[in-house]
Amino acid sequence: MPRKVLQEYKFDKCPICGSPDRLAGDAAKEATKRGFFEIDAEVAIVELKKAMVDVRKLQSVLSGSTITQVRCAIDMCTNCGNIYGFLADVSDVPVEELMAEMSPLPSIQGLSNFFGRKGG
Ligand SMILES: [Zn+2]
Repeated sequence: MPRKVLQEYKFDKCPICGSPDRLAGDAAKEATKRGFFEIDAEVAIVELKKAMVDVRKLQSVLSGSTITQVRCAIDMCTNCGNIYGFLADVSDVPVEELMAEMSPLPSIQGLSNFFGRKGG
């Protein structure tokens, strides 16, 4: 069962100055020129995730069910320095995927892709 996006919010420009240039987005373009990376327009400096479940009720969450999760990708405008969320969503996430995200094992991600999409 895949993640089901219920709401998606996108802000293509800085809400203060209107510039589309972002720190991590620009860094991804630069790294792509050097062959270290594939251009990814949705790369962020910070990704916040929050599952909408009371930890005291975790044990009653059934395998195969879904939990609502919010995610927000945050980056800095390289024109005026404003830090803003440029991409966010509300999703229903399978419990198994959530548990994998909460795994204490270290992951090798580097700059991760917020939505797992590739684009220019
Ligand atoms: Zn700006």
